[in-house]
Amino acid sequence: MPKKTFYITTPIYYPSGKPHIGTVYTNIVTDSIARWHKLLGEDVFFSTGTDEHAQKVEKEAKEKGLDTKAYVDTIIPHFKDAFKKYNISYDKFVRTTDEDHKKYCQKLVKKLYDQGDIYKGKYEGWYCNGCETYYTEKDLVDGKCPLHGTKATWFEEEAYFFKMSKYEKKVIDYIKKNNYITPKYRQEFILSRMKDGVRDLCISRTNSEWGISLPWDHKHKIWVWFDALPNYTSNTASSPWKKFWPANVHVIAHDIIWHHSVIWLSMLLAAGIELPKKLLVHGFIMGEGGLKMSKSLGNVIDPLELLKKYPVDSVRYFLLREIPLGSDGAFSYHALRERHNSELVNGLGNLHARTLSMVEKYYSGKIVKSPKNELPKKFNYAKFEESMSNFELHNALSEIMHFVNECNKYINDNVPWELAKNNKKRLDIVMYNLADSLRLISILIEPFMPETSENIQKSLGMKKKEDYKKAKFGLLGNNKLEKVGYLFTRIDEGETMQKKETKVETKPVIPFTDFEKLDLRVAKIIKVENHPNADKLYVLQLSLGSEKKQIVAGLRSHYKPEQLLNKKIIIINNLQPTVLRGVESNGMLLAASKDQKVVFLTPESDIPEGAKIS
Ligand SMILES: [Zn+2]
Repeated sequence: MPKKTFYITTPIYYPSGKPHIGTVYTNIVTDSIARWHKLLGEDVFFSTGTDEHAQKVEKEAKEKGLDTKAYVDTIIPHFKDAFKKYNISYDKFVRTTDEDHKKYCQKLVKKLYDQGDIYKGKYEGWYCNGCETYYTEKDLVDGKCPLHGTKATWFEEEAYFFKMSKYEKKVIDYIKKNNYITPKYRQEFILSRMKDGVRDLCISRTNSEWGISLPWDHKHKIWVWFDALPNYTSNTASSPWKKFWPANVHVIAHDIIWHHSVIWLSMLLAAGIELPKKLLVHGFIMGEGGLKMSKSLGNVIDPLELLKKYPVDSVRYFLLREIPLGSDGAFSYHALRERHNSELVNGLGNLHARTLSMVEKYYSGKIVKSPKNELPKKFNYAKFEESMSNFELHNALSEIMHFVNECNKYINDNVPWELAKNNKKRLDIVMYNLADSLRLISILIEPFMPETSENIQKSLGMKKKEDYKKAKFGLLGNNKLEKVGYLFTRIDEGETMQKKETKVETKPVIPFTDFEKLDLRVAKIIKVENHPNADKLYVLQLSLGSEKKQIVAGLRSHYKPEQLLNKKIIIINNLQPTVLRGVESNGMLLAASKDQKVVFLTPESDIPEGAKIS
């Protein structure tokens, strides 16, 4: 019987500069899922690559005085090098400048044109060069791109349009019926955005030399996204890869969900191609303190620099364990070191070193089999597998680490060095359970930490990589150990890293316990008076149910008394009382402000005064 196929993709990346930590993160996530399916014995196809027809790439090449393709050719090795160093086990690296991809796209757009799904019209609108995307007036923030914060430019041109609106209903049905987008709240977000209606999509431009020409009108180049998305199907257009479509999982970050749901599904529906099964959306990697990484803050993490100080498996482990898949997560050297030292060095590394040194000492480095399963049965297979199938990689890793702790505890509870003196039979059982558990762990961590997995298997004298079917008790033979040294060594705060960190100015994240200290309440304004000594201030009398209190608020230039009376507001109830120009104030109301505008916060629907906010 043919093996079950599994096709997983990363987005393809703009070949602009070097790959950043977010790119590497996407590929680590994808790699772990791909490796997991290989471990399950499936026939896996994993693709990644570069999206090369962007106008900004053409612009960069021009600035450097280079031919665009020649320029891009100098960038690609950086990407391949980074992926190699991070042990990304991709099967195909697609470039949108590949001849077969270009031919595929032309064939696809021609089909849509011939069947009337692409028509000629005129485009006018706001365009962001950074996103290579048109925006409506409403999408822009102060006339600027919502993602880049750069000024959008007004554009008018004759262009071709894809009848995307025609597929709106089918796309909604498909997303809903198949729970296409994980996590669920991302799906809800897209579906609610679709409620505003889906417009036809401009898919060509004439202001560029760089790109794939429309086969019936060479003056027009295909819009970069309309050429990039079909990489997923051009990869599998010919045998022997045909069997992999439809893709099982597209992995992306949350800034390109619209492209991968609405646009991509509509294109496939129009082309009569089967739809992919799952869109897995992960978060952004933020800098220290949860701030966006930027050159000006000096908090950009170079993924290759990172590997000069930290082992690749520590970085992979940290990113996968620290950040729940789907959420944004903050990168911090401190947290990376913490996880490395406490979980990998003291946890897994210590278990490995202790077990192997005892096998060496008491059995001259030879495994002695014993039939009683005491330790591997403590591993929670069901929870681990469930986490993997729900893409909760952080929870799966947590299960493995929980088991590692169980193993270390087992050593402490059984005191093998005492057994060696007086109970050889018991020692056989304990040591075999430990060694076989290490083998089990080596299989379980393979998707996340492939090098460490290999090291453990080598140290246990295992001749070949074992798959998940072998992740059960009693399969470690009477092997002879091999020396591989320590799996991990401790990393202390180095000078250079320390300097980097203190240079970054960040607002620190606060622990939840700090937030809990705030007593936030709903209060009703029952009286509004002008402050006797200050013309910007009101004195407000509030009701919090049984409790009444007075606060002073600077709202006089923003609200008339009648606009405030009987309104419900949010206050900090436990702020230290203060006297403002001779009037006592026993709290503070919450208001939002931007430029000159100030608005107070109010509960979205009616709720009794005194209600606690958490
Ligand atoms: Zn933009």
